[in-house]
Amino acid sequence: MVSERVQQPPRYKKGNRFVMIKIAKFGGSSVADAKHFRQIRSIVEADPARRFIVVSACGRRHKGDAKVTDLLYLVAAHVRYHVSCDDLLEDIGQRYFDIADELGLAYPIREEFAAFAEKAKAGQYTTEELVSRGEYFTARLMAETLGLPFLDAADVVAFHHDGTLSMRRTEELIQERGIPGGFVMPGFYGATREGQIKLLDRGGGDISGSILAKCLGADLYENWTDVSGFLSADPRVVENPQPIGRVTYQELRELSYMGASVLHEEAVFPVMEAGIPIAVLNTNRPQDKGTIISDREDYISGEPIITGVTGKQNFVAVHILKDHMSNEVGIIRRVLSVFERYHVSVEHIPSGIDSFAVVVQGDDVKDCIWSIVADIKSEVPVDKIKVVEDLALISTVGRNMIGRPGVSGSLFAALGQEGISIRMIAQGSDEINIIVGVHKDDFERAIRAIYRAFSDGDHLLELKDLKRAEESARRLR
Ligand code: ASP
Repeated sequence: MVSERVQQPPRYKKGNRFVMIKIAKFGGSSVADAKHFRQIRSIVEADPARRFIVVSACGRRHKGDAKVTDLLYLVAAHVRYHVSCDDLLEDIGQRYFDIADELGLAYPIREEFAAFAEKAKAGQYTTEELVSRGEYFTARLMAETLGLPFLDAADVVAFHHDGTLSMRRTEELIQERGIPGGFVMPGFYGATREGQIKLLDRGGGDISGSILAKCLGADLYENWTDVSGFLSADPRVVENPQPIGRVTYQELRELSYMGASVLHEEAVFPVMEAGIPIAVLNTNRPQDKGTIISDREDYISGEPIITGVTGKQNFVAVHILKDHMSNEVGIIRRVLSVFERYHVSVEHIPSGIDSFAVVVQGDDVKDCIWSIVADIKSEVPVDKIKVVEDLALISTVGRNMIGRPGVSGSLFAALGQEGISIRMIAQGSDEINIIVGVHKDDFERAIRAIYRAFSDGDHLLELKDLKRAEESARRLR
């Protein structure tokens, strides 16, 4: 009988042991100077599974400092306009020389950098290739620091000519050329078949790490940064918000779309498809638990009712009123087609019996809102159109809210108690978020009120405390 074999993700072998695969991606602030390089060395040495490393270009060392990537973009602009950039190149080079000198590295960084600077000044690079050297040199120095081989992203991360990523070819190349015992790969770039360097989005090193995790069938994607994971609210708005221990990919999408930014939004997709969890960890405090992002939706005792509260300002609501609208067919479609014609993406469509609103991002319509209104008026038989600007949306996110009566009651009671008028309410069909629209002047107060409703001052309330949240909301009424 042929036994059925469950397909296992590949493991790499150390001696005669198979070890888990963890991709560890270190962001710009984590590789800013020699001190951080040493911290990374001890993080990597602490766990034999951390052998597949991705790095960003050196970031800011302190407030007011510049990121190498930004400086390289500046070099490209100087070259384009034939303005001397010797000082800039000198500053960039010095950052690498300082790291190499302090760590006593043998990589010939001075020679390599001088050759790069000459070519850059002579205009021999495309902007993308020039900028990509930030991660290239960082990865070279990191590889030696960690005693791991260097793997050039240009050899394994494959792009189409139009600048989009070819996941299929990348998978093949990583299987073919990825070094089984581990390596250091620069993030943020890759190349076409002909070897032309292409860049991902800004902050795209996170995407490189995620792609690598997927292609190697990793057990975990560790994203090391300068914060201990995600916080349940913006610390500039809420004092001492609780860190988020666990979050689903979907919740994270909601939180980051609405404002929380630690990880590049697109970085979730490759690992989500492969079911690989992401751990967001702090290079400066490796002992902190950080945040785990995965598809686990089950409730673990002690977890809070809400995962986080976040929000975004500058939305515009176009209210459409028409008597007996519910008896007419096609009104919403015709209004939406006007927005489509202007390539404006629609965020929400709250509706009533004789009215509905189209909520869009203010930036998307800043130059065309009145043309859109004029087109709607001339093409669709509506009674009245009202444009409301200065709308802010607040999203309360939590997988544990699903199917639990009382959560929205507490939320609305808290806003009522604060005297905040709610202009719009929406809930995603999967029930993991409740969105309220408020006037922009009420934005921060509303976030604080919601956070307070679900916390006891120090901690977010647990699911077993939901009754308490409801009772305190009722008392407030
Ligand atoms: N160095 C690039 C940037 O600053 C990519 C990254 O850091 O992930 O955008």
